[in-house]
Amino acid sequence: MQHLREQTEQSDTLLELLEGTSCSFCEDGHLVQERYKGNEAVICSGCGTPGAQVW
Ligand SMILES: [Zn+2]
Repeated sequence: MQHLREQTEQSDTLLELLEGTSCSFCEDGHLVQERYKGNEAVICSGCGTPGAQVW
């Protein structure tokens, strides 16, 4: 019988995947986990552009 992976904490995983990736809006920045407008998000350390948000 196949065991399906649980998909709880999917958004945490998404943020973890995005964290550390290079920013697509500037040359130097990379994404770090922060709070953005009260939500967990990844934000560029260079230009401050939010890469993803969890609503
Ligand atoms: Zn940037």
